Amino acid sequence: MIAFDNSYSRLPDHFFRPAKPAAAAQPQLIRYNQALADQLGIALDAGDTARLAQIFSGQILPVGAEPIAMAYSGHQFGHFNPQLGDGRALLLGEVIDGEGRRRDIQLKGAGPTAFSRNGDGLAALGPVLREYIVSEAMAALGIPTTRALAAVLTGEPVIREAVLPGAVFTRVAASHIRVGTFQYFAARGDTDGVKTLADHVIARHYPEVASAENSYAAMLSVISARQAELIARWLSVGFIHGVMNTDNVAVSGETIDFGPCAFLDEYDPKKVFSSIDQRGRYAYANQPGIGQWNIARLAECLLPLLDEDEEKAVELANGVLSRFGDIFQAAWLEAFRAKLGLAGESDQDRTLVSDLLELMQKGEADFTLTFRALGKVAGGADHAGLQARFADPTGLSDWLVRWHSRIDDGRSRTEIQARMEAVNPALIPRNHRIEEAIQAAIYNDFSFFHRLTEALQAPFVDDPDVADLREPPKPEERVTRTFCGT
Ligand code: AMP
Ligand code: MG
Repeated sequence: MIAFDNSYSRLPDHFFRPAKPAAAAQPQLIRYNQALADQLGIALDAGDTARLAQIFSGQILPVGAEPIAMAYSGHQFGHFNPQLGDGRALLLGEVIDGEGRRRDIQLKGAGPTAFSRNGDGLAALGPVLREYIVSEAMAALGIPTTRALAAVLTGEPVIREAVLPGAVFTRVAASHIRVGTFQYFAARGDTDGVKTLADHVIARHYPEVASAENSYAAMLSVISARQAELIARWLSVGFIHGVMNTDNVAVSGETIDFGPCAFLDEYDPKKVFSSIDQRGRYAYANQPGIGQWNIARLAECLLPLLDEDEEKAVELANGVLSRFGDIFQAAWLEAFRAKLGLAGESDQDRTLVSDLLELMQKGEADFTLTFRALGKVAGGADHAGLQARFADPTGLSDWLVRWHSRIDDGRSRTEIQARMEAVNPALIPRNHRIEEAIQAAIYNDFSFFHRLTEALQAPFVDDPDVADLREPPKPEERVTRTFCGT
């Protein structure tokens, strides 16, 4: 049983279109996230995999489900597209989880909708597994994200660059409302639509701003802060989203739409993985700037709500946008202070962090394993393990002297190491391992996908059984480009 309690489908008719899952020849369950199902109060028999496959491919509609495709627009690589919408996804409905939070349950890849344009509405197995692996890894890292409830093979082929197995991904989100959802109404001059959506977002995500003097300005401000903080968290684990289009920015502050995303191996701020991002718009270090740009697009939509006087409205919006950078910088510094094991604050901290990053870039040091090794050094290990991470360790010893004197403040070494290891993962979903899982799965072997997914639930542990999953790719294993989620 799924106790649906739908609110989005109660909004005006032009916010969505009814949708109907397509028939699937032979649905077969790949994975079901029982722990998440428990959180959501979903009581389905986990042993009955045939029925789960029917439900999470859309063949059986649970009582209370009201499948809809949500309308939205979006700036894609800087260009506005007024008509996007759920082209290969449908919202089954909403549930209230064990902590009283409203969560969306969405099927991705269950066939065409009114917004599919020329697309087939389907999803290939690869992107479904990537989203499963990466979104659950993000959750285990403690970073706000949509979640994976299930993955099912449809038994139908999907035609992409090759004929691939089709699959359906079940995603759980605080909501699927995007910056692009606001743009949909704003672009049509539908200020009532913008207002209705804003009221829904406030009630659903930010009830605390309802009593603010200007609740819409307060909503913009909190959405902006959440994005700035989220992107700081991404940078702290080396995550590159890959397609930070405004239609892929959730106003809830969760990471959403894992397409050609990837984690850094060696540290390179200019790194891009997406095959379609040829100019590096969404490169690792560009993400905060793009995040602010995306919030500026949201602010434009909200201008008519911010103040009747246009000049005042623009002033309010600019005020919010001007704070984005400071909020991001503060969150970034806090995250990296923790990564370095620094307690308290010193004026020199920012330089200490950026100097290390510079050495890592020059030394082509693995982002994840460098910080992990630094934790061991804090705990008393010699420098060899850390130095081995650098192709060229010039300058590292001098930096370590500065760092040692900064962390040496009376705390025990074990304590510093423990604190560092609680924020510096040992294990991230490395791109070459995700590819390996996908390739095996295409040939119907899901064992590596399961192993990887399970290992990633404990990212902060040095488990000897998963040592092979921690290592960066060998030259021949490197994945240089990741193709978009379609
Ligand atoms: P994305 O790249 O996932 O952010 O998708 C951008 C837009 O393209 C969204 O409106 C999607 O619904 C739509 N889209 C992506 N893939 C497909 C597909 N296979 N069929 C229909 N629509 C799609
Ligand atoms: Mg998208």
